[in-house]
Amino acid sequence: MATYDDQNIFAKILRGEIPNDTIFEDEHVLAFRDINPQAPTHVLVIPKGAYVSFDDFSEKAGDAEIAAFVRAVGHVARKMGLKDSGYRVLANHGRDSNQEVPHFHVHIAGGQQLGPLLAKPRS
Ligand code: 5GP
Repeated sequence: MATYDDQNIFAKILRGEIPNDTIFEDEHVLAFRDINPQAPTHVLVIPKGAYVSFDDFSEKAGDAEIAAFVRAVGHVARKMGLKDSGYRVLANHGRDSNQEVPHFHVHIAGGQQLGPLLAKPRS
């Protein structure tokens, strides 16, 4: 597991060094619009704690952080009006997923038919 880099872009957003379009915030969680949306609604949900990825979060986060995070994902999806039409929740971990930002986050995407889960891998 890589050590946490506190210069990653989401750490800077959490410190207020870079602006964001906040959708929801509480003690443990921040949710904001993705800067390069891949769907009509594309929101990122991140814990405020310093976790590199889902692997790190699932192993080290406390129960209160995990509960707050899961509650926040559902809350944000409902707030964005996606409950009835449907949405996708996705987290990238590590090299093979092309995780770009090394601070754990999930993507919530919706607002259109999203198609298949995965592109076919290159042979
Ligand atoms: P990953 O590939 O790590 O799962 O996704 C990282 C996401 O962060 C990408 O969808 C990318 O568009 C988004 N992103 C990268 N930099 C910024 C930024 O400065 N602000 C916001 N709001 N999103 C960002």
